[in-house]
Amino acid sequence: MTLFGLILLCSNEFKTLKDSIPLGVNLLAVSKGHHQDSIRKLSSYGQLDFGESRLQDAIPKKKDLNDLKQLRWHFVGTLQKNKVRGVIKEFDFIHSVSSFSLLERISRISQEEQKTPNIFLQVKLKDDPNKGGFIKQDLLKSWPQIISLNNINLIGLMTIPPIALDSYQRKNLFSECRNFANHLELKDCSMGMSNDWQEAIKEGATWIRLGSLLFGKRQT
Ligand SMILES: *Cc1c(COP(=O)(O)O)cnc(C)c1O
Repeated sequence: MTLFGLILLCSNEFKTLKDSIPLGVNLLAVSKGHHQDSIRKLSSYGQLDFGESRLQDAIPKKKDLNDLKQLRWHFVGTLQKNKVRGVIKEFDFIHSVSSFSLLERISRISQEEQKTPNIFLQVKLKDDPNKGGFIKQDLLKSWPQIISLNNINLIGLMTIPPIALDSYQRKNLFSECRNFANHLELKDCSMGMSNDWQEAIKEGATWIRLGSLLFGKRQT
């Protein structure tokens, strides 16, 4: 039996969690792999930002939640070229833009769709065969072209530490991401997940992305 609408926290526990997040840090509830009723439940506690990692999973959930007009949708998954138009149409934020060619495509299609998505550039600050993202040097090299692109609202950097890092290395990686964003004069850093969000906040995260801490173990 599957219980839909189930989340780990009751409203008081959610409030306690929210109270422990400093002002200026935003909570993204990553609802991938969870039923729309769980999203509805969490939204009833006041949560407005939800993250999904697959376009085809997000579309039916959004349809079901269509009455909740105030929700903001964030794309956090690997973005494939052929999904860009759909993602631009369905999402307000994209956290996972991992290459210049992808960013150019987003800019072009956003113009066609008359949209201006909020964009995080995903950066890879340590070698990680499992993850995409800009290498620092490449991002710096493309920077003049990046900032001249239309119809993208470039707000920050996003990073995911490789699994193998210890907490000291993770802290350094988060701090490096914050410094790099500052250098590029970007306000936001999307970093920190269920297992390391407190460290990420200490190092300057402005968006933390929590999945299992809010929703429990994923169903898919
Ligand atoms: C799944 C996912 C999360 C949430 O991970 P948890 O460990 O469940 O909090 C955050 N960010 C991205 C990019 C994800 O894919």
